[in-house]
This record gives sequence, C-alpha cells and structure tokens, in this order.
Amino acid sequence: MTAMTEHRTFDSLNPATGAVVGTHPVHGAEAVRATVETAADAAVWWRRLGFAGRRARLLTYKSVLARNIGRIAALVNEETGKPHADATLEVVVTVAHLDWAARHARRVLGPRRVFPGLLGVNLAATLEYQPLGTVGVIGPWNYPVFTPMGSIAYALAAGNAVVFKPSELTPGVGVLLADLFAQAVPERDVFQTVTGLGETGAALAGQPGIGKIAFTGSTATAKRVMAACAANLTPIVAECGGKDALIVDHDADLAAAADAAVWGALSNAGQTCVGVERVYVVDAVYDRFMRELTARAREVRAGEHYGPITMPAQVDVIRRHIGEAVAGGRAVIGGPESVRPPYVDPVVVEDVPEDNPAVQEETFGPTITVSRVADAEEALARANATAYGLAGTVFSRSPRRAMELARRMRSGMTAINSVISFAQIPALPFGGVGDSGFGRIHGADGLREFARPKSISRQRFTLPGMNVTTFGRGEAEVDRLVKLVTFLHGRRR
Ligand code: NDP
Repeated sequence: MTAMTEHRTFDSLNPATGAVVGTHPVHGAEAVRATVETAADAAVWWRRLGFAGRRARLLTYKSVLARNIGRIAALVNEETGKPHADATLEVVVTVAHLDWAARHARRVLGPRRVFPGLLGVNLAATLEYQPLGTVGVIGPWNYPVFTPMGSIAYALAAGNAVVFKPSELTPGVGVLLADLFAQAVPERDVFQTVTGLGETGAALAGQPGIGKIAFTGSTATAKRVMAACAANLTPIVAECGGKDALIVDHDADLAAAADAAVWGALSNAGQTCVGVERVYVVDAVYDRFMRELTARAREVRAGEHYGPITMPAQVDVIRRHIGEAVAGGRAVIGGPESVRPPYVDPVVVEDVPEDNPAVQEETFGPTITVSRVADAEEALARANATAYGLAGTVFSRSPRRAMELARRMRSGMTAINSVISFAQIPALPFGGVGDSGFGRIHGADGLREFARPKSISRQRFTLPGMNVTTFGRGEAEVDRLVKLVTFLHGRRR
C-alpha cells in the first residue's frame, strides 16, 4: 500500500475470545485509486521481467512463505479461530500452488507456433498469453491464505500486479502475505494489500485500470461486484459458495465414506466452500453407513477439533437451517441446542425434505443432512438439484461407475473415494457452475484466467495466384481457391 494518511481504522478480532488481533486502516476510494496507480507502474516492470525473472522471484516468495509457515498459521489461527494445525495445512497447500504456478507459467502462457492451416501455408501463426495489467483480488475469511492465493499466485505468475482486499475479518493475514512478498521482491509494489470493509472492495471493483477482479465470497456479493465492474467493462472470475453433496453407492467402503463425510462437513466448522453439506446414501447400505457416521461425528468436538464460527452473523444462518432441518426431518446428533456462540457443535439430521432451506441453501456450518435414496441415480439427481454447483464427492468401489457419476455431477470438481482432494492438486482447475460462480483458478486454466490470448499471423511469402485479399484479385484467384477447398474438404464421407 502506498504511504497515505488514513484516519478511519477497524479492528480484527479473535472470534474465539473477542480479543483485538490488530488494527488496520479503512482504505477509502482515494487510497484504493492511488494503490491501483502504483500497481500500474509495478505491472509494467513485472511484465518486462519476463517468465524467467518472475519465476525466480516467485520461487523466492515461495521459500519465504515456507520459512514463515508457523508465523502465518499463528495469525490465521488468531483471526479465524481455526486450529493451528488446520491453518498450517492451509499454508502448506498454498506453497505447493505457488510453486506450480511459478514453474508452469511459461509452458502454459509463453509464445508458441500454431499450425496456420493448409489455406495459410504461407503464414506463420503465433499464440501467446499476455498479462492483463493489474488484477484486483477480493478474498474471504474462511481460508484467508489458500483461497485468495489461488488467484494471487496465478495472477502474479501470469505477469500481473495484484491489489488484494482481504475480508474485514482477516485483514492481518492479507497484510502479512503482501509484506512477505515485499521481502522476496523489494524492487516494486507488485503485490499490495488494501484493508477495509465492503466499501473498500467495492472501490477496488469499480476502479478503472483493473484488468480483472477475482472474487471469492457469497453469490449475492458476487452480483454486486459484477455490477460495480460493469461500469468499466472489467471482467470477473467469481468463486462463490456451494451446497456440495457426497454420494455413497451400494459398494462403497462405508468406513472411509463416513470418515470423509465427517471431515468434509465438520472441519473448519463447516466454513468451507467445497465442504460436504448433504449426504445421499443408497438404501442397501444406509443403516450401516449411519452407524459409521454417527460413531465418528460423536467424537468431534467444537473448540477442540474445529474452531468457532468466524463471522458472528453466520450463526443466525446456521441456527435457522438447523431449526428448519429438525422441523422437517429427524435429528440424529445435536439440534438447536448445539448452537452456543461462537461455537456450534456437530449436527446430523436425516430425512430432511429436498425443498427444505437446509438442503437448498449454503449453511456454512458444522451440519450434515443425510438422505436415503433407492440407488446412485437418484442420489445424483438430488445432488444436482440445487442452484449451486461447486464440487462434490462419490464413494464407490467400482472405478468405472464412480467416474461416470463424477462426470455427470453438475459441479466444477468431484472427488472420488476421498474428500476435497482436487483442491490440493495444483494442475486441476477450481471453480463452479450456476450460483457457485464462473471462471477458474488453479492449473493451466487458472493461469490463462489472468491473461489474454494474443494472436499474431505473419506472412512468410506470397502465394502466387492465390492472393484473394486484394482488390487486384481476379476471378482466377477465387476459382483456384474454390478448387483447393473442394479438393481438401469436398470429398464424400
Ligand atoms: P461476502 O461475499 O459478503 O464477502 C466476501 C468478500 O467480499 C469480503 O472480502 C468482503 O469484504 C467483500 N465485499 C463485501 N461487500 C462487497 C462489495 N459490495 N463490493 C466488493 N467487495 C465486497 O461474504 P461474507 O464474508 O459476508 O460471508 C457470507 C456468506 O458467503 C457465507 O456465509 C458463505 O455462505 C459465503 N462465503 C463463501 C465463501 C467461499 O469460499 N466461496 C467464502 C466466504 C463466504 P468484507 O469482509 O470487508 O465485508
């Protein structure tokens, strides 16, 4: 952030204790404008470094992050309340993504010759992916390192400068990520963080000179961000929430499926965009699965295995969903009494009707609805019947059947016989369909998301008698072209 006097400040709080973790400036529209201006200069320098120069610096940043895992995790723990070990895992996976983005940018985005086609034999065709300039990243609080870095690392590797607006709940982590980058790349302000509330994010989205906004958060806010971006025709990649389902087929390893359901739904207090919120179990194994599930879920304790609800307002959503689920279905573990802010104990409810808000809307809490289905086809139909489509899970011992179900699941990612495993694989793109958003972070698609294709055709020699893009052409040139096309493409098949 450029030096600037900011009068208003806000505190980030430890959600478990209410203690003040840090005080940060509320950057207003003018500060955001100045930051984006600084980024524009830095972007030119960063772009000119080329792939090799950026790769070296990003690998230095990676090693700085790796050497500071403990420090970063401690701050994540303080600002979100999640266990230190979970915060550590988050940073570890982020380091792997940064490493992949730095090492693969040239291969994915660098110039390559493409075949010009038989009609263009006299041309050389070159494709490359150029940076957008400055990318604005608006991040959430649930994974304040992993989630925004999924955009930041890939945007930087693609040659862009970044201005990051972290959630008002986790500003310290956002500031630390940029500070550590400045240790690795002290020359220019290539990666800056602005802090503040929603208006700071809105100012960033509405700023001219932003090449793209990478947003992670709720679907409702994504729409507001898109509206702000519309003023400057700024494109956006939107990673929104989900209502992800886990399907248990008749031949599944039930112990493994139950373990995955419990971890996928309850870890991080359910505050995971790709967390498990619904489970569909085939009738033949339903009772056995439920025994496995309840035995494990009963062992999980709020405040020990996972932390508090980070955003106080979310407690109301969780309370409402538990109330609706219990009213429409049957509580197996916990119930309304499980809500004891800032903690929510595990809640498992079965037989909740599909039109219940607890089945249709994102809960973002440590709750699971479980439903009995006739077969995997019914499970898939129900899994696909929400407005969201972020990710999902399939448990089956038949690799073919599992792949088929995974392909037909209406989501951007599906894990088979494991949960959320796609997120740790840097080569796999990450993003949703429907209300879960659009565009992709991670992988080659995640690099291309922050670049624009540049196509160049160069004439190497003239084709005698074949030049049709001149007023000097005659009928003979067109005739020759038609003959050639008929020869190449006109054969009966
Ligand atoms: P929001 O969508 O409101 O916030 C996400 C980010 O957008 C934050 O940095 C926020 O800043 C910022 N923001 C808020 N308003 C604006 C605006 N008008 N223009 C630009 N940026 C803005 O999510 P919440 O944190 O309020 O969480 C609400 C729900 O969203 C959760 O309950 C959950 O269902 C879902 N969610 C999904 C996530 C995911 O990973 N897909 C992550 C987080 C939430 P600030 O925090 O300062 O308001």
